Amino acid sequence: MKMRRSIVLRARTPARPLRVLGDGYSDDLQLRKKWYSTRRWKKIRAAHLASSPWCVRCAREGIRTAARVVDHVQGHIDASWRERFWSGPFMSLCTNCHNAKTGRETQARRRAAGGGVR
Ligand SMILES: [Zn+2]
Repeated sequence: MKMRRSIVLRARTPARPLRVLGDGYSDDLQLRKKWYSTRRWKKIRAAHLASSPWCVRCAREGIRTAARVVDHVQGHIDASWRERFWSGPFMSLCTNCHNAKTGRETQARRRAAGGGVR
């Protein structure tokens, strides 16, 4: 039997081939960008910030900082992030705390993917 050399499968849109190797993160990122720009998400975000207006991480240090970001507590590493996107759990974070958390998640994802830099 002849082995197929190509590991690239065609996605629904032929212009963007779906990569089989890797963790699919790039495709997830596109979807997430799309979802974050929806009216549905903006409503969820506004409602969460209204009920929880202070950064929860700063609050642990006894600091009161206005939250700017509604963060997904469990992040987006796990493939099931799609199921939690609309339902949460969420937490309010300031920009600094959110960036710090996202940075740690990115490092964890790279380690999980075998240390490759993408
Ligand atoms: Zn903070």
